[in-house]
Amino acid sequence: MKDTFKHKGMRQQLVEVLKSKGIKDQNVLAAIGKIPRHLFMDSGFIDHAYQDKAFPIAADQTISQPYTVAFQTELLEVKRGDKVLEIGTGSGYQTAVLLELGAKVYSIERQQELFKKTSKFLPKIGYRAKKLIFGDGYKGLPEEAPFNSIIVTAGAPFVPKPLLSQLAIGGRLVIPVGEDVQIMTLFIRKGPKEFEKHELGEFRFVPLLEDKN
Ligand code: SAH
Repeated sequence: MKDTFKHKGMRQQLVEVLKSKGIKDQNVLAAIGKIPRHLFMDSGFIDHAYQDKAFPIAADQTISQPYTVAFQTELLEVKRGDKVLEIGTGSGYQTAVLLELGAKVYSIERQQELFKKTSKFLPKIGYRAKKLIFGDGYKGLPEEAPFNSIIVTAGAPFVPKPLLSQLAIGGRLVIPVGEDVQIMTLFIRKGPKEFEKHELGEFRFVPLLEDKN
């Protein structure tokens, strides 16, 4: 597991591509410039790691496209020390981005093989989430709520109520909603029963599935 000057150079090019596509948050760009994305992918795909594309990981899942990771993360407006819940740990790449921003990260994965693989891998390269959980993200994580923000990294057919109720006041939920195509949706909790909703364009994700596997 090596990170070379070549990889660093390719990462800087990726950062430039993301800037040209409209990503502005300097902290998010710095995180993507720092994290060795090629290590999150199976070795056969290393040459593709710094293209702005989604890629297959284990268990028929994908590591999200860097632009999508950056876009969602920017919407979260993470501040150091924020408590952040991620649904869909997958490769752990998005988790690493959140950790670079100084968040306390809780992340749920429903696919056991991926959960095990990523639970071993992240600490090995120095990324320590508060908790990685094998479970069903539709339920959120009530015992650790409220969260400053929640990010869903799979396409949700509907907005799970528990996720809205586990947001702190002022908290932000970023969730792609829809069946075949998803609309990136941002909810900001304005009060106990008051949510502001913003729709921010179309994306394509693997589906958010019910229950663990
Ligand atoms: N954040 C990941 C993206 C992985 S793709 C990354 O950076 O690599 C989406 C992930 O969501 C998959 O790993 C999938 O298994 C997981 N997933 C799907 N439905 C889920 C659910 N109900 N709860 C938790 N994880 C879920």
